Amino acid sequence: MSGWKGSDRRRQLPKDWPAIVMFVLRRDRHRCQRVREDTGKKCGRHANQVDHKIRPADGGTDHPSNLQALCEWHHQRKSSSEGGTASAIARRARRDAAKPLHAGLLDADRSNHPAPF
Ligand SMILES: [Zn+2]
Repeated sequence: MSGWKGSDRRRQLPKDWPAIVMFVLRRDRHRCQRVREDTGKKCGRHANQVDHKIRPADGGTDHPSNLQALCEWHHQRKSSSEGGTASAIARRARRDAAKPLHAGLLDADRSNHPAPF
């Protein structure tokens, strides 16, 4: 117990993580593997992120079999949704709505801009 460092709570990525990322992106042909809920097809946009299918917190490994390529947008979306409950996301959305940059994005009805998912 005496050797436990409370400050070192962040999980470390493996030393060869950059090589794993390259492998996964190549395997998935730099295409986002996220299956869209509306079409049932893969997103297919340019992917430059690698994501754990099963979160490390839930026992997922850093092996390529547990990794998939994601586009930046889906990666951010997934990362933020993993951060907490729906109410936390709603709180964040409300807070972001106060910023001019996000106001137009969230106000989809008025701008009639198609959602990217
Ligand atoms: Zn995507």
